[in-house]
Amino acid sequence: MVHRWGAVLALFITIVGWMPKPAHAVGVPVERGLCHAVTPLATTDAQGPGLRFACDSAPRQYQQGSLWLRIEPDRYLHSRGTPTLLVHYSRFDRLAVGMRYADGRTEWQQVRNGNYGDYWRPGAQVAFAPRNRDAVVTAIFVRFDRLASHNLLRLRLLPAGTAELQSGLLAALIGAALTLLAIGALYNLSLAIAVRRQYLAWQGAWAAIVFLWGTLWSQFVLMVVPGLAGSFSAQASTLLSTTAIMLATFSAATSVERVLLPRWLRGATLALGLSVGILGIPASIVRTASIETLGAVLGVLVLADLLAVAICLAWAVKRGSREARDLVAAWSVPMAALALTELVDIGSGLWGGGAQILVLFAAAWQTIWLSIAASRRLARFRAERDLARAAEARASELAVRDPLTGIHNRRGFVTTVTPMMLAAHRSHTPMALLLIDIDRFKAINDVHGHEAGDTVLCTLADRLARWQGPMCATARLGGEEFAMMIGQFEGPSLLQFADHVRQELGACDHRSTIGDRPVTVSIGVAELRETADYQQLYRAADRALYVAKDSGRNRVIHADHAASQVAPGKEIEEAEAR
Ligand code: GH3
Ligand code: MG
Ligand code: MG
Repeated sequence: MVHRWGAVLALFITIVGWMPKPAHAVGVPVERGLCHAVTPLATTDAQGPGLRFACDSAPRQYQQGSLWLRIEPDRYLHSRGTPTLLVHYSRFDRLAVGMRYADGRTEWQQVRNGNYGDYWRPGAQVAFAPRNRDAVVTAIFVRFDRLASHNLLRLRLLPAGTAELQSGLLAALIGAALTLLAIGALYNLSLAIAVRRQYLAWQGAWAAIVFLWGTLWSQFVLMVVPGLAGSFSAQASTLLSTTAIMLATFSAATSVERVLLPRWLRGATLALGLSVGILGIPASIVRTASIETLGAVLGVLVLADLLAVAICLAWAVKRGSREARDLVAAWSVPMAALALTELVDIGSGLWGGGAQILVLFAAAWQTIWLSIAASRRLARFRAERDLARAAEARASELAVRDPLTGIHNRRGFVTTVTPMMLAAHRSHTPMALLLIDIDRFKAINDVHGHEAGDTVLCTLADRLARWQGPMCATARLGGEEFAMMIGQFEGPSLLQFADHVRQELGACDHRSTIGDRPVTVSIGVAELRETADYQQLYRAADRALYVAKDSGRNRVIHADHAASQVAPGKEIEEAEAR
């Protein structure tokens, strides 16, 4: 398992390493000898080209003023086409770009914090192209007012056509990742509500935060709210990304079973996650040079946090946690991506998307993987639940069946007939109970053995069960006593039916077990009248059965006229007695 994920990770890092550096795109290294000047804010744009630029030192003390950069396109672009300057947005109040043409004219364009107009491009970029596409650009002046840090600047020069192609590609990639994240967030959150699992809520929240971060960072949000351009988006992105890391840490550390992790490890991991979240607040507010120190501390904390989460998961996997194994699969890619962006400067690689697009894609992968893992886990739960339900159904079915004959026992009979009686009582339709007792059954046991007695019981039960239907319930109440609840018949037709039952049961073939010995039954009949009470009905039928036995057996007696029944089976009994 570990081996497999190691391979996936290695492949991932290799792919990232081989990601095509955009053709002809040239990063303009601000820190290395780019000519710069610093002036007060009052200096006008037109004065820019006349300033004295220093080219061999790092710019300083520009946070309260203006930082000017001078770029000679020829140094970065070999083909003499119209260059496009792409600037990753950073924390500044205003950005002005002056294109100087070969004829000495300089043309200025600018964006202000809050609204980038038509200049914004997907992937946190602002693009400036010369208006006059036929003229040769000899120098580009870039002016930042109140810039937080030049070290966070990323500038790129591209031939115009390439810039447009890259923007389109990046828009499609970011759109795809954001769609996946939105689906993942909705799926996990709705699943969390449906099955009430906390870890699903964490996962949904994480995906939602990364989605928000992605829409802000990529500037897609500007399509809806253009006023969010610049510092607000940059600052909110920082806050959202640290919040996402904190949520991810919480979700990973809490979804592993509590007993599997030492308390100190869980505590330390949660504390690291929390401190990333807390440090994200000043990091998102600060507009001064201390952003660099904060950024460095945050970077170290994030790495420590990722390491702690990795140790937690490895610890739990070693102790056989299934949850942790699923989590490792899901988190390893985004964690590796995050760690990679902290350790390696991807700059404005990946078509200008840089580290962020890597994180965005890793997060989309993770959300999809977690969704799949959650579905699989729920499917497993469902399978286990179905098995448990089937076992429960089997157990409750056994509880209402008579183990010897397989027909309903007393409990099953009462459960079945109660609604039948209620319905008949309500609709004033006939319903009657037949209590059926085998005559002289003890003698069968005594002469032929208990097993033969059992077989006789089964034969009679099978015959009885053939009447079973929507209007007829049958059961073995105990010993050699059976019962039948029958609808539709009343008065003489009921007695006729009961006698038919007696004859049919008496006609069963028992020759293989007890030879030619006849087996007869006596039946007590009681009709449902004033109440739908089973006990009352049973007592009446039992009294009639007693009379049937007492008056010679092998006959049917109705509870209403217990004493005046004919005794069709009298001769058999007398013959037997002789
Ligand atoms: P009567 O005509 O008065 O009903 O006489 P009887 O012999 O049928 O009634 P009695 O109550 O005296 O005896 C019932 C016998 O049924 C006694 C008991 O051994 C037997 N019996 C009860 N349950 C079972 C069973 O599950 N299997 C077998 N083989 N015999 C059983
Ligand atoms: Mg009996
Ligand atoms: Mg009996």
